[in-house]
Amino acid sequence: MPERIYNFSPGPATLPYEVLQEASRDVLNFRDKGIGILEISHRSKEFSEVIQEAEADLRELMDIPDDYYVLFLQGGASTQFAMVPMNLLMPDKKGAYLNTGTWAKKAIKEAKTIAKVQVAYSSEDSSFDHVPTDDQYDVDEDAEYLYFVSNNTIYGTQFHKFPEKGKMLVSDMSSDILSRRFDIRPFGLIFAGAQKNMGPAGVTVVIVRKDLVNRAPENLSTMFKYKTHAEKGSMFNTPPCFSIYCVGRVLKWLKAKGGVDAIEKINREKAKILYDAIDNSDFYKGHARPDSRSFMNVTFNLPTPELEKKFVEEAEKEGLSGLKGHRSIGGIRASIYNAFPVKGVEELVEFMKEFERKNG
Ligand code: PMP
Repeated sequence: MPERIYNFSPGPATLPYEVLQEASRDVLNFRDKGIGILEISHRSKEFSEVIQEAEADLRELMDIPDDYYVLFLQGGASTQFAMVPMNLLMPDKKGAYLNTGTWAKKAIKEAKTIAKVQVAYSSEDSSFDHVPTDDQYDVDEDAEYLYFVSNNTIYGTQFHKFPEKGKMLVSDMSSDILSRRFDIRPFGLIFAGAQKNMGPAGVTVVIVRKDLVNRAPENLSTMFKYKTHAEKGSMFNTPPCFSIYCVGRVLKWLKAKGGVDAIEKINREKAKILYDAIDNSDFYKGHARPDSRSFMNVTFNLPTPELEKKFVEEAEKEGLSGLKGHRSIGGIRASIYNAFPVKGVEELVEFMKEFERKNG
């Protein structure tokens, strides 16, 4: 393995090295066919196997029952901000939303152009430093779903317990899908861009209860209907073949690691190492309230923006890359998704201690 830096980027993010090796081999020659995976027709037997296996592995890893479709779509998670209300709320129905950060806000903004929206809760007044518990908000009775972002990538907050309100749940799980076990049954729909926990950018996974794809109005454009993609096994048009292939490899890697339960344990361990370092110091201050802390994106501040800048620059020199917080909140953000190694977190903590000793 060549010398690699520790990549704390929020996405596209670190991928398992084994997957990168397999992908580089298969780009040149896929299954000894004398042709690379990038060149194979999406209608070929080879690619059909790739997409079917990826779906089967995702179903197995997440325990997805038969009454849900698994779709591999394009347009990023951002397209889902519109597709969800287009398919589930048109015409004239209402969706309830929990505003817990930038990605929730964007989804709310988009939904408002399409349907009625109830913003049932907002943590904006406290810089999105927490997610609500169920006793802190009410969902209108006529709301078709309660929408929430399970992990707020920018602010570093996460629902440790999912909401249990509303007729059904819809969730943007872009930054914590496959990081922990949960029961999918209360969800009508889940979506996630692949580029954090599942693979490279370019494909968005949508898991939708089968009966819901019939709700879209007939006159909705073909590409925006879930039904179109569901009926054609995500092959209505050319799918993002290579991204789907890579997701498939990441899912195999995760299965070999012991699946979601095993990775959840490691994720908790990694997050604990970092949060302990923050809590044991007066120099570093966590952004999220402890009961809302994300196990995927750990956000914290130093005493001044100048020190934060210095921290990021010096960390980069030590091979600890991508630690600069999102431009909207500044500070430091360490993204430690499934494929990020424990060793990298330990090295970051060592660096933090040293930096505090020199600058504290
Ligand atoms: N939702 C969440 C929670 C995200 O973190 C992101 C991207 N960082 C998005 C949505 C937007 O994803 P995309 O860029 O794939 O549209």
